[in-house]
Amino acid sequence: MSAATRVLVTGAGGFIGSHLVSFLKNKGFWVRGVDLKHPEFSRSDADEFEILDLRRWDNCLQATRGIEEVYALAADMGGMGFISAHHAQILYNNSLINLHTIEAARVNGVKRYLYTSSACIYPEYLQEEANVTPLKEESAYPAQPQDAYGWEKLVSEILCGHYKSDYGIETRTVRFHNIFGENGTWEGGREKAPAALCRKIATAKLLNAPEIEIWGDGEQTRSFCYINDCVDGIYRLMRSDFSKPLNLGQDRMVTINELADIIAEIAGVKVEKKHIDGPMGVRGRNSDNTKLRDVLGWEPAVSLEDGLSVTYRWIEQQVEQKLSQANTPAATSA
Ligand code: NAD
Repeated sequence: MSAATRVLVTGAGGFIGSHLVSFLKNKGFWVRGVDLKHPEFSRSDADEFEILDLRRWDNCLQATRGIEEVYALAADMGGMGFISAHHAQILYNNSLINLHTIEAARVNGVKRYLYTSSACIYPEYLQEEANVTPLKEESAYPAQPQDAYGWEKLVSEILCGHYKSDYGIETRTVRFHNIFGENGTWEGGREKAPAALCRKIATAKLLNAPEIEIWGDGEQTRSFCYINDCVDGIYRLMRSDFSKPLNLGQDRMVTINELADIIAEIAGVKVEKKHIDGPMGVRGRNSDNTKLRDVLGWEPAVSLEDGLSVTYRWIEQQVEQKLSQANTPAATSA
């Protein structure tokens, strides 16, 4: 790929987007990042970074000008706590973002367009047991996603399919299964389970207060994929000739209780789990990676333990910093 290829990453101020910008820069692309905000934890490696609200059509036209390839990651999203409490906001904002971004890409002559969907599009009726059958791409229909977040993703997937068949844009659609890693939201309400558990366990360790809260009985299952595998997989899919939706995740399923145990072991502490009421999402979810292997000849390789070690260390530092700021004389006298 020539160094002159100009790509746009939307959501470049977010978790996956900021990692993807660095990955694409390393591959020699010219990168424009667009978001409502700059990355929170590191400087963006993008050649150009524009603060734009992509719900607006004029901003989408500006974002896609002179661009050959778009990685569409911008979304109003968060973990289960956020997704299960903001249906209208999510459906409204994400519909506008995705309708306007792909149409602006078409108007500006973009050749390739990768859309980031989610395992949340899969029907609730296939995910009622913790010991769930891994989800194949074709199990998406008959559709019954649990939340508005999933419904919007499903419609945007279909939109991409039609933009390919009607207008000839090479669209790609990836369905992520729980991506985690450093430089992601770890507090504030939008964080996901791995980051929230790292924060709770780091706080328990640093304050010597072993009790941590877990939403529900902790027996709900998920698979988790480390960020370096995620950006590698996104890139491989963009370069492939596969235009249907493709899972991208690990296929090792663990319970949330097991996830907490792995993190506690990495942290070197013993924690007491207190199970409280809270949104749990579907009971079980896992990725079937058969198609991923067939299409890309590749699958995520970083183990949960290795990915969590890096992530935990980073979050522990964030918690430590926050606690020490809270204890500075200026903070305590205020
Ligand atoms: P993130 O929240 O860290 O990043 C999304 C970014 O989009 C944020 O920086 C946000 O400011 C930006 N954004 C929101 N509204 C915008 C607007 N109106 N205009 C411009 N930018 C806007 O989330 P992430 O984890 O990096 O997720 C990236 C993409 O992957 C999203 O589309 C998400 O739905 C999808 N996804 C992520 C996961 C995961 O496990 N992280 C799982 C499934 C799907």
